[in-house]
Amino acid sequence: MTVRIGVIGTGMIGQDHIRRLSRVLSGARVVAVTDTDRARAQECAGRVGARVCENGADVVGDAEVDAVLVTSWGPTHAEYVLASIAAGKNVFCEKPLAESSQACLQILDAEAAAGRRLVQVGYMRRYDTGYRALKAVVDSGSIGAPLLMHCAHRNPSVPGHFRPESAVTDSAVHEIDLVRWMFGEEVVAVRVLRPRANANGGGLQDPLLIILEMQSGAIVDVEVSVNIRYGYDIRGEVVGENGTAALGENSPVVVRREGGLTSPVPVDWRERFSLAYDRELQEWLDRVATGRDPEGPGSWDGYAAAAVSEAALEALRLGDRVVVKLR
Ligand code: NAP
Repeated sequence: MTVRIGVIGTGMIGQDHIRRLSRVLSGARVVAVTDTDRARAQECAGRVGARVCENGADVVGDAEVDAVLVTSWGPTHAEYVLASIAAGKNVFCEKPLAESSQACLQILDAEAAAGRRLVQVGYMRRYDTGYRALKAVVDSGSIGAPLLMHCAHRNPSVPGHFRPESAVTDSAVHEIDLVRWMFGEEVVAVRVLRPRANANGGGLQDPLLIILEMQSGAIVDVEVSVNIRYGYDIRGEVVGENGTAALGENSPVVVRREGGLTSPVPVDWRERFSLAYDRELQEWLDRVATGRDPEGPGSWDGYAAAAVSEAALEALRLGDRVVVKLR
């Protein structure tokens, strides 16, 4: 069965997902789109032969739309996810699931009342080949119980409107979801350290060092650097009782010349995680097409990521350890 998709939000990632749904993946057709910028919506619709709807509610209510893709601005997500649940339609929502953990709880309750899983959240790192290989090593027990994980999330630069809290809510939130999945346990407390600021950051508190305490006692440190210039570099190393396992280098080529050894670093997240986005949406489509519940990150994961992010922001503000409270 071809899944007929309605897309709410045709900005950067909305357009990228429409491209992959139409040209890269199998089993999907984008039939309806909307955006507050109507001209942008029309241009995207024209490229794939879709209709333009007046607003997000019309996309969800459209009889030809089997499943909804929410790629609009974060604060609008909850409304469209709740509407999709009320309509009994599968919904794939880019992160964040909602603007607050409280709003995520409303979605959890609505989904529970509907009696089946309808929501998947776009935490695509779980679909990355490197992270899957790393998790396979951890799960095999070959390096013993995991004790520590060192993560780095490095961006070459960020736009001028990047807010100080975005280093947590937009950047580190990916590591927050990732480590819950990697270790299969919740984060119980958070601290945030403020190293000497990078002069490239124009007054922004950058980098940050976020310390996550896991239920088992394992500790994860996440360096978030958002103005490091040299490239988009995502690193991760798990330290176990008897060994370590780390993400490999992501370059397809290594050059040795003039006494040096170099390999390219991805320019941005689209280049680094392009295959993970493809796999994430293909696996979701395959399950929706056959009437099976989605297996990827769901409402609880969206809620937990929001709750840990809120605790991290509080820890940053207070300069102290903050306990994560989950329902
Ligand atoms: P963007 O380029 O600003 O696109 C958002 C689009 O949604 C804009 O065209 C915006 O229109 C439109 N929009 C806003 N409110 C709307 C509404 N109520 N109904 C319909 N359209 C609406 O942002 P983006 O970078 O694509 O990000 C979109 C979402 O995806 C964000 O939540 C972001 O966190 C997430 N994201 C996730 C990843 C990931 O790695 N998983 C990567 C990138 C982005 P206007 O411009 O007119 O406001």
